[in-house]
Amino acid sequence: MKEIKLFIDGEFRTSDKSFVSENPANGEAVAKVYIPSEKDIDLAVDSAEKAFYSKEWRGMDALKRAELLEKISDKLKERRNEIVDLEVADSGSALRKAKADVANAASYFKVLAGQLRKFAFEVKDESASRPGFSANYKIYEPVGVCAQIIPWNFPLVMAAWKIGPVIAAGCTTVLKSAQETPVTASILAEIIRDVGVPAGVVNIITGGAHEGQYLLKNSKVRKVAFTGSTEVGRKIMEGAGRNLQRLSLELGGKSANIVLDDADLSIAVDGALYAFLYHSGQACDSGTRLFVEEKIYPSFKDALVKRIADVKVGLPTDPGTGYGPVVNKKQADRILAYIETTKKEGGKLLFGGNKITTGEMAKGHYIEPTLFEVTPDHTIFNEEIFGPVLAITPVKNEDEAIRLANKSIYGLAGAVWSKNAERAKNVAKLLETGTVWINEYHLLNPGMPFGGYKQSGLGREMGEEGLKAYLEVKHLWVSDCDARDKKPWFDAIF
Ligand code: NAD
Repeated sequence: MKEIKLFIDGEFRTSDKSFVSENPANGEAVAKVYIPSEKDIDLAVDSAEKAFYSKEWRGMDALKRAELLEKISDKLKERRNEIVDLEVADSGSALRKAKADVANAASYFKVLAGQLRKFAFEVKDESASRPGFSANYKIYEPVGVCAQIIPWNFPLVMAAWKIGPVIAAGCTTVLKSAQETPVTASILAEIIRDVGVPAGVVNIITGGAHEGQYLLKNSKVRKVAFTGSTEVGRKIMEGAGRNLQRLSLELGGKSANIVLDDADLSIAVDGALYAFLYHSGQACDSGTRLFVEEKIYPSFKDALVKRIADVKVGLPTDPGTGYGPVVNKKQADRILAYIETTKKEGGKLLFGGNKITTGEMAKGHYIEPTLFEVTPDHTIFNEEIFGPVLAITPVKNEDEAIRLANKSIYGLAGAVWSKNAERAKNVAKLLETGTVWINEYHLLNPGMPFGGYKQSGLGREMGEEGLKAYLEVKHLWVSDCDARDKKPWFDAIF
């Protein structure tokens, strides 16, 4: 069986505590996973601190770091098939989703390398500088030791989004993967070692809430980057206050999908299904609230209910599968409980609503694609489910759609569907959310920022904003007054 060890100071180590992870599709053992002790976690942070102050890492220029990022990208592509198979077994990701994850992670490292080559770490601000008085510079410097925590839904991509900017900025890190899906972050550790990232720059461990909490408490950690639920994000923000750690939070969502009455229905129907069903609905940016203008609501609803029957739920190893199981029994039970609550609250079930208990799928945690017609009072209109369940609400007009879309503690993503790009853009601008697609969904561009408004997070990943989140800015003032009598302000104390 594969062993997932701790990656600390450039070496793979075992620990006293371990468990066997299971394939969500059939319950079979996937890997023996080692959990770090508190001493191991301290060791990982010490190693990150030592690497941060090492001559090798501090002295490495940005172009060389960009080369490392590019090599990671190449290695990910080289080891694509192996990584895909492991991700499918470890997380229940459908084959097509796992392939897309590897391609996205590789592309992210590559784009980041290009961005780094162009990034000016030292900028003279001509508007602030005055000849004969001062020259003023902005100098961007790495924040220092980071602690990064990721969720189980996109294990490789989340690890890439975290580790990429650490290397780009010249920081160091201890990354904790989710113990539900620790395998591919560990492969990334092998790649990082193999391409020659110095020992200690990236340390990768796994574990649950206890290990996460312990890691974040370490006073050597200057920046915390967390992706996960809003509930845990709140606790992490409180904790970060203790040592005034810099903080990035990528949290939950309840994103709105707005179908205007002039939408191309063949695109919008498939788009609305793709928006909430990709990876069994376990995507933070899923479009889980659907608003449709009344004028087209009956025909849209009919088309949606008809088309959803074509969605292919199946074994994740089958190349034809659209989506597979959810990550574990706990998650399946949570989704089924939301379905029961919605029925009790009087939500109208339009499709699905059950666990799949037939054939090979009976061995895993598979849930039918589920459609409910609801009002804003229903629990599933407001709470993130993280499963294949859609809340549909008809709206009178676009004003009502905007008002209801913004009626949420979340603000991660969303979409507008219309043949009139200007109209859709005007609606998009009024949505309080970090990403809006027009006639599209889920697609991300590594050169553009991603993150949430409101309780969906703090800060951005990717794009220039994502790199700057790992940099401090120093104002460097160089005096251009070359004689004592040109500095009358010194006289203030004499
Ligand atoms: P979670 O919050 O339960 O756990 C996330 C990570 O935090 C895991 O590694 C977990 O072990 C760790 N953790 C849990 N409690 C902790 C604590 N008290 N202190 C420190 N670490 C702790 O989330 P999850 O169930 O793994 O993932 C699903 C959630 O992640 C959803 O809410 C989803 O929307 C969100 N998510 C957000 C984004 C984004 O970019 N905004 C991306 C993916 C997932």
